[in-house]
Amino acid sequence: MPGFELFGAEEKKEVNDVLETGILMRYGFDGPRKGIWKSKELEAAVCSTFGAQYAQLTSSGTAALTTAMAALGVGAGDEVIMPAFTFVASFEAILSMGAIPVLVDIDESLTLSPTAVKAAITPKTKCVMPVHMCGSMADMDALVDICKEHNLILLEDACQSIGGTYKGKHLGTIGHAGTFSFDFVKTITCGEGGVVMTNDKDVYTKSDAFTDHGHDHLGVDRGADLHPALGYNFRISELHAAVGLAQIKKLDTFLAIQKKHNQILRSYLEQVPGIQFRVVPDPAGDSHSFLTWFLPSQQHTENAIAAFKEAGILAGNFYWFGNNWHYIRKWDHLKNATSLYPLSKDQQSALIALQSTDFSKSDAVMSKCISTAISLVWTEEQVHEKGAAFLAVLQKVVA
Ligand SMILES: *Cc1c(COP(=O)(O)O)cnc(C)c1O
Repeated sequence: MPGFELFGAEEKKEVNDVLETGILMRYGFDGPRKGIWKSKELEAAVCSTFGAQYAQLTSSGTAALTTAMAALGVGAGDEVIMPAFTFVASFEAILSMGAIPVLVDIDESLTLSPTAVKAAITPKTKCVMPVHMCGSMADMDALVDICKEHNLILLEDACQSIGGTYKGKHLGTIGHAGTFSFDFVKTITCGEGGVVMTNDKDVYTKSDAFTDHGHDHLGVDRGADLHPALGYNFRISELHAAVGLAQIKKLDTFLAIQKKHNQILRSYLEQVPGIQFRVVPDPAGDSHSFLTWFLPSQQHTENAIAAFKEAGILAGNFYWFGNNWHYIRKWDHLKNATSLYPLSKDQQSALIALQSTDFSKSDAVMSKCISTAISLVWTEEQVHEKGAAFLAVLQKVVA
C-alpha cells in the first residue's frame, strides 16, 4: 500500500533539485529558482496520470477536502452526507467549513449505501461525500444519479484509493471535485500533502486562490495580487512536491505489485469455507491496496483476530470495528461534540444526535470485516508464506 516503502534515489534527486536553489516556496522567486517548479510539475503529472483537467496541490488531504468544499460553496448550515466508516478527516473538513456532517450507513462495499444516502436527504442537504475506502470504490453510478436528481454536489474523497478506477475513470475525477491525500502512509506520498482534482475551471480557480490566502495569482508580482475572496494557507512546499513527483512516476509499479500480492493472498483466503470478500462495484478498478474480507460472524472475526495475534501474524490486518480512528463506534469526541472552540448550535445538535442514531446495518458489516494491507516490499515467497499461515489459522477458526 504505502509508497514510502519504495523510497529511494529518485525522491532524493527531486528533493535535491530544490535544495540546490534553496527556493522552498511554490510561488514567486522566478529568477533564483532557476526553472525549478516541482509543485507545478506535480500538478501537471496529476492531471495527465488521472485524467483530471485541473489539479490544485494542498498541504494535506484534509486541507484538500476543506479547499474543495470552499470552492464548491459548501458552508454554514449546509448538510453534507458522508459514510459512518471513513477516516476522521472527512468530518473534520466538513465541521471546519461550518457545515453539518450527516453520517449514514455503509454497505458490503464498505462505502456509502445509496439507499441510506437517499433516506438522509433533507432541504438542507448540499453535498454528498462518498469515501472510496481501502483502495476500492463506491457505487458511483447510483450516487451520480442521486446527486443529479436532487441537484446536489458530489465530492469524492479518494484519499485512500489513488490509482483506482470506476468504469474507466479514475476515482476522484467523477464528481464535481475529488481529493487525494499524499500523507506518509498513502499509495503515493509527499511526506504530507494532498490534491483537489476537478474538471470545472471555476472550482479550480477558487481552489488555487483559497489555498494561498485568496491570492488571485494573476500578476507576476505576488505582493500586488488581488484577493477576490477570503482564503487560507493550505500551500504545499516545493520539498514535499518534489517527493511526490518522484513517487507519481512509480505509481504504475506500485499498482502492479499491489495487484499481484493481493491476488496471491486472495487465492489462499478463497479456500477458507464461509469467507466472503468485499463487494467491489467495478472489480477491474480495484487499486488492490487492501484485501478486505468477511468472516461468517462477529464472534468468528474476533476469534480470528485473537488467533492471528497468537500466531504472530496480526500486523497489517485491520479490524476497523474495534479501531479508534475509522468507524463511528469509537468516535466519542464526535458524538459528544467535544470541541476546543464553540461549534454552531446546528452542528452541536447534529453531533449529539449521532449518539442515538441506528448504525446497526453498518455494524453488521463492520463487525465481520478484516482488511489486510498489501505491502510493496514483500517477496512473492513471503506472500505465499503469509497466505498459507492465514489459511492454517482461519481453517481452525471457522471449523
Ligand atoms: C488519509 C485520509 C484523509 C486525509 O488525509 P491527510 O493527508 O492525512 O490529511 C482523508 N480521507 C481519508 C479517507 C483518508 O484516508
